[in-house]
Amino acid sequence: MGKTFIEDIAQRLRIIPNLDREKSNGAKSPLKSFPEPEDWHDHVELDANAWPKMVEKRYSLVPTTCFNCESACGLLAYVDKDSGQVSKFEGNPHHPGSRGRNCAKGPATINQINDTERILHPMKRVGPRGEGGWERVSWDQALDEISTKIRESLKTGAKDRVVYHVGRPGHEGYTNRILKAWGVDGHNSHTNICSAGARTGYALWHRHDRPSPDHANAKVILLTSSHLETGHYFNPHAQRILEGMMDGAKLVVIDPRLSNTAAMADHWVPTWPGSESALFLSWASMILERELYDRDFVEKWVNWEEWLQADYPDEERSFERFIELLKAEYSQYTPEFAAKECRIPVEQVIEVGEIVANAGSRLATHVWRAAAIGNLGGWQVSRTLHLLNVLTGSVGTEGGTSPNSWSKFKPELFDVPPDPDGWNELHFPPEYTLSHYEMSHILPHLIKDGRGSMDVYFTRVFNPVWTYPDGFSWIEMLQNEDSVGCHVALTPTWNETAFFADYVLPMGHASERHDVNSYATSSGKWVAFRQPVLREYARREGREVEFTHEVNPGEVWEEDEFWNELSWRIDDGTMGIREHFMSPYREGERITIDEYYQYMFERVPGLPEAAEAEGTDPLGYMRKHGAFQIEEETYNKHEQDGWPTPSGKQELYSKSMVEFGYPEHSIPHYRVMSHVHPDNLKEEGEYCLLPNFRLPQHIHSRSANAKWLAEIAHRNPLWVHPSDAAKLGVGEGDLLKVETEIGWFIDKVWVTEGIKPGIIGCSHHIGRWRRKQDSGNRYMTNEVEIEDLGDGKMRMRTVSGVRPWESDDPDTNRVWWRDGGVHQNITHAVQPDPISGAHCWLQKVRITRPVDGEEYGDVEVDTNKSFEYYKKWNEMAKENEVHPRGERRPLWMNRPLPPRKEHWFIRE
Ligand code: SF4
Repeated sequence: MGKTFIEDIAQRLRIIPNLDREKSNGAKSPLKSFPEPEDWHDHVELDANAWPKMVEKRYSLVPTTCFNCESACGLLAYVDKDSGQVSKFEGNPHHPGSRGRNCAKGPATINQINDTERILHPMKRVGPRGEGGWERVSWDQALDEISTKIRESLKTGAKDRVVYHVGRPGHEGYTNRILKAWGVDGHNSHTNICSAGARTGYALWHRHDRPSPDHANAKVILLTSSHLETGHYFNPHAQRILEGMMDGAKLVVIDPRLSNTAAMADHWVPTWPGSESALFLSWASMILERELYDRDFVEKWVNWEEWLQADYPDEERSFERFIELLKAEYSQYTPEFAAKECRIPVEQVIEVGEIVANAGSRLATHVWRAAAIGNLGGWQVSRTLHLLNVLTGSVGTEGGTSPNSWSKFKPELFDVPPDPDGWNELHFPPEYTLSHYEMSHILPHLIKDGRGSMDVYFTRVFNPVWTYPDGFSWIEMLQNEDSVGCHVALTPTWNETAFFADYVLPMGHASERHDVNSYATSSGKWVAFRQPVLREYARREGREVEFTHEVNPGEVWEEDEFWNELSWRIDDGTMGIREHFMSPYREGERITIDEYYQYMFERVPGLPEAAEAEGTDPLGYMRKHGAFQIEEETYNKHEQDGWPTPSGKQELYSKSMVEFGYPEHSIPHYRVMSHVHPDNLKEEGEYCLLPNFRLPQHIHSRSANAKWLAEIAHRNPLWVHPSDAAKLGVGEGDLLKVETEIGWFIDKVWVTEGIKPGIIGCSHHIGRWRRKQDSGNRYMTNEVEIEDLGDGKMRMRTVSGVRPWESDDPDTNRVWWRDGGVHQNITHAVQPDPISGAHCWLQKVRITRPVDGEEYGDVEVDTNKSFEYYKKWNEMAKENEVHPRGERRPLWMNRPLPPRKEHWFIRE
């Protein structure tokens, strides 16, 4: 269509882009946002590097998904047909979650695959573990040696001594199937430093442990922290929040820090960390008092009768009486009370409360990490936040908040081995009866406490030495061969944990592996295919590829094929493992990766029909498009299926809480005072350290090899409010010493009004390090020296900051930044919440000026102190350890890899 008159004028005035450029620049076809899938194997565009010459480049565009956060946005790899290599990554417009858009981390995948320091061959330790000696070995040798160790462990009958510890899985059920085939209760995760607090609060309501807010259709969007919008479902959520706002939705952000999201909000509510539940309960009280609750929803779908029966047996069992009693129960949560706890003006409590109370069924709420993972009792935050959805009847509605699982596709696998025949008490210790996930952050402490050890320990997308609190205790555990018999790090790039491994095995990046993804990024349901793009390119070009490592760089394998091969080698023919790796299509032969996904995609509802309409099969469709929309909308599923709780309803009243020793938490309340409550910070110089926020350009420890991202963000100064800076007598760039319960670190000051007074902020996504003998990640790592000072005391000092270096990539010599930040996590004590099991990230700290000899980047930790401190927190769980009917934990509560039911009971 030609330009309109208005467009013509606007173009001449340069108000809009030049719509005639396709004619004037010599290109043969008009400019488009995205080429059509039919043209993806033969896409032509001009070579930007050849400008001003018009040189055409030919590409094959292969869809895959990003692996730089959980969202799994669609990517299109531009495979250059001349070089056969990937030139760049753009968005995949056919991906229903990301719809063609990405954040900075998506296109930066190209940095990661071209990283000149990536690991290209299997490496085996030489000399003592952790000292930095390595030799290159063949895959055959590595696989044989590791499989022998696993076989020996399995043959002892142990079910808990071979462990796969994963940070970001990226797939759906692949390794759980492997672990089941091996018969071990060996899955460990990172969830207890991430989302376990929030999950517990949600699970208490409706067993589903994660929310899916329908931002795009909301009237009010209520976010507790920005983390999810800069981390989980970042780009897919951010674009829908913007859509909602463009349609008039109000955005409320609760966060002591002025995040990017808070800066765009209609209301920034900077609550004191841990006080959020008081605020939500005051709003709940407002909804009740003003009769704004959704009577139909609450009466029908909430287990209010159970509450009356348990706590008010003599009262009339009517809905009206229930509402009266609930009003009375929550009347203590006045706006004044909330204002005092949150340290915000009472006017703000009321003003924002009115917006929330009037949202009706279109209230989209979310909390992930943030306050729920920061505070002792953080699980109360999601429990009280969801109460607002329940009262307004916005659970499962359009514009409301649904359970995540309604929008998540669970694949059907070709073979399901039996559940593990054992219970791993290093992962689920008996005293953490309600811990939502594995107690992974106290693994070194449990081992030090004599609770067990491991024969073979795999770490994958997991770097606890750097990411977790108390990293020196992780180093201590990993260096002790009695604690960890063999440590295998599966990783594309070196990291602080891999330095302490026996084997380092190179794994593929996002575009070098298979996975299937499905996430609740909106109200629909989709499935996406992460595929090794050069393998698909080879197939399009008519070349047969049997294994992905044939097309990957060096000897980089993909994880799927690694597990299959390892499993085959573990079984000496007597262990029954191989039977779980047989082709469902070819009798008596081993399954191939193509068959694994073929079987899965053939069972995706609607996909076979969509494929047939395009003259292909389901696998062919996914190879071509990279994603498939299964359902457009997933609202109100409870009307058909109810809720999967013991009562079949939304559980205002939790019988499990009562039975498992916490009767004071039978219904949502604000009854746990955070360890960083102002009443606990009364001494001179005491502050709350807010460390659990990320910068949108980084992914924990996975982006240090992405040069573009490192250039944007590479330091983590202390956010200090001007009033605190004046009190401390410091200005921009001055040094402060931050003392935690177990050590201290020294960092630079950034004076900003973007942080609440009394709170010191510091992003825990920066401060990477390597020692002189280590390699990798030089865009982001300081070179450090680690010294054992004796008596459990450890010191780390920066030898040099980031420096340029010579390599095949000229950019490595152009690195201009020098400051790699400070590793603060290693000075944090572990603080396991006795109920959710979550690590409480916020730290009570003392702030002083450094003394002579203490320098920027210095870190000191006393690991004996950290063990004592762990014991103190562990005692809180032990004090309440109750096992009704002998149950280790409520039988309805999920576990990522559930063992057979008989193991859910404590044996006498
Ligand atoms: S939001 Fe996450 S998945 Fe999407 S492009 Fe960014 S890092 Fe990748």
